[in-house]
Amino acid sequence: MLSKVAKVFVASILSVLLLSSFAVAEIKVNNPYENVKWDSFGQYKGNLHTHTNHSEKYNPSALKPEQLILEYSNRDYDILAITDHNTLTWPWDDYTKENSLKMLPVQGNEISNTHHLLSLFSDFNTTMSNEKEVLKQIGEKEGLAIMAHPGRYNASSKWYANLFVTYPHLVGMEVINQGDRYQDDREMWDKTLSVLPPDNLCWGFANDDTHKVEHIGRDWNIFLLPELTEEDLKDSMITGAFYFSSISTLENVVGCPPIINEINVDEKLNTISISAQNSQKVVWISEGNIIHIGDSVNYKNAKGMGSYVRAEIIGEGGVSYTQPFGIKK
Ligand SMILES: [Zn+2]
Ligand SMILES: [Zn+2]
Repeated sequence: MLSKVAKVFVASILSVLLLSSFAVAEIKVNNPYENVKWDSFGQYKGNLHTHTNHSEKYNPSALKPEQLILEYSNRDYDILAITDHNTLTWPWDDYTKENSLKMLPVQGNEISNTHHLLSLFSDFNTTMSNEKEVLKQIGEKEGLAIMAHPGRYNASSKWYANLFVTYPHLVGMEVINQGDRYQDDREMWDKTLSVLPPDNLCWGFANDDTHKVEHIGRDWNIFLLPELTEEDLKDSMITGAFYFSSISTLENVVGCPPIINEINVDEKLNTISISAQNSQKVVWISEGNIIHIGDSVNYKNAKGMGSYVRAEIIGEGGVSYTQPFGIKK
């Protein structure tokens, strides 16, 4: 027989064990939209990868900077970067004399002697061929970087993951480029997300990579910003407070791609829920596999849930993609 003291002792040990097992079972979500105020923030349409005739002097269909700016402005874009190959097309004063600029211009270029890299928000330029050195120097300039069209290369997911962990200003990779010409881009995104820590994921971007007028307006990013300023844009690119839309990944689109009204993470119910206009189906993907279909996913119970989950919202007018949510078990 145990003494009363021993019984109390055993009981308290058991309750500590029980409580700590609950603590282990708790799952935390890294929500890139955590700070988004859906009812007051603006949704700003942006393209961060375009070329002018400064990239291709001898291509007759290449656009002059003033034409490119006007084409995007006429399509109601809010944010535009000109990213000529190893060339800074900046400032834009000479190109916007004829028309008032309604968009937020982003300084940048496409570093092209390496794995192509978008260098944004600085005057950095180089013909160096070492990705790590290039990324280090973009960081020193307080710029942000995006890996362009990974589907063109044969790099491994571990190589990408190592770069994302080492260089925090490398914010993401393009997963839709120029009308989805490299369809393996999203596969590489999922592979890279699968090996990254859930609190250090990489964001997906959709860009036209415009080389001629026919490339304009097929895929874009929607940045969720308090104000249309460079500071707020940079913040949203760092935290992942944006989503992207595509009309090139579906055939015969009608209308416009889904517009996200709200994303809500409920830590009591263990759910992530999406409300979107023009949505027909929400598909949830983890570790490259579809794990659930429906407006809401239970991140604790869903079978196949790995270290991240992301959603593709499919409508008649196209597909909109959320950023990945980190799932910390
Ligand atoms: Zn490129
Ligand atoms: Zn390009």
